[in-house]
Amino acid sequence: MISLHVLGTSSAKPTKDRSVSGSFLNSPTGSFLIDCGEGMQQRIAAHDRWLRSIGSNERTKVSKLRAIYLTHAHLDHCWGVLPMLHSMDKDGRKSKLEIHGPTSIAALNWVKDRPGEVPDPDSGIYSGDLAIQFDWWKKHGGKNGAFQFDVEWILYPVDQIGVEGISISQEDKMSVHAYVTNHLDVPSIAYHFSTPDLPGKFDRSAAIEDGYDEKSIRDIALDISDSAKYRGPTRPSRSLLISGDTSSDVPSFIEMKSSIDVLVHESTFDDSLENKAASYGHSTARDAAKIASHMDVNFLGLTHFSSRFQDLSNLEKEARSVFNESHILEDGDRISIDLDGSIRLDRKGPEEWISIV
Ligand SMILES: [Zn+2]
Repeated sequence: MISLHVLGTSSAKPTKDRSVSGSFLNSPTGSFLIDCGEGMQQRIAAHDRWLRSIGSNERTKVSKLRAIYLTHAHLDHCWGVLPMLHSMDKDGRKSKLEIHGPTSIAALNWVKDRPGEVPDPDSGIYSGDLAIQFDWWKKHGGKNGAFQFDVEWILYPVDQIGVEGISISQEDKMSVHAYVTNHLDVPSIAYHFSTPDLPGKFDRSAAIEDGYDEKSIRDIALDISDSAKYRGPTRPSRSLLISGDTSSDVPSFIEMKSSIDVLVHESTFDDSLENKAASYGHSTARDAAKIASHMDVNFLGLTHFSSRFQDLSNLEKEARSVFNESHILEDGDRISIDLDGSIRLDRKGPEEWISIV
């Protein structure tokens, strides 16, 4: 099962009920963060305490994180990383942490040639590019500017990635793929998490009826070709795509052939601010719904709302007029995708999850 704990749904700055971007993903290959705005470590810890208080067998723990996937360099998406690394160091972390993010070739060259310098505006390089931030974080984290655990800093120059995206992690139980998105001059990527196709469920009783004993059942169950007769239909890959900040005209999304169980897409503005969305490299709720209905998507989670909106029902209405499976996300929400393809949205109640979908 894949479950995404959405821990920040506000854009640019936090509001009374919404923090800036950051989600905690539990998957068959471990725990990951997608974006990490300010205060993320406290949010994760508070969410974990709540999960423990309701007796959940699922948890969100900073110590369990294997990697952080940053969609882009804007501070509302990455300003929580360095303090989190600092705490990991103080907590005696030993295991390696990967930090992934987009950059440009020009920014990588800048850091190589002029380390520590800030690019001037006519360089064409975004001054806060992750290559520049990573370079700084490396020198300022931990005791005496060095972490006691390994951090693998992994940058993807978006100018080298085509419409088909790039594979950035491939493990038996889950793969991660990155697609370039469109956030004006700031290199930005979306992350696609997918499980492989799995063989169908093994029907033990049918095998026993055919005279197999326990040991031979175990043997044939392990061999896909021998066990085909007793297996149900192949269970197809399950997937989650998280957009980061972007306008909705992303060629990779427009041309994507594979089906997506859950798309979490930014929807900063409503219809009345359509022009603002386009000029700032953002999407309206309707834009997100349009791309979801164009792609083969089963569930659309809307996030990253401008702090000007207190009531988001209008954004949901505008999205649903295009794509009915559109859902406004709240801080603390959990989206779960089961191996059989069923999708749930749960919201934090006082003492338990409340099922929304
Ligand atoms: Zn943002």
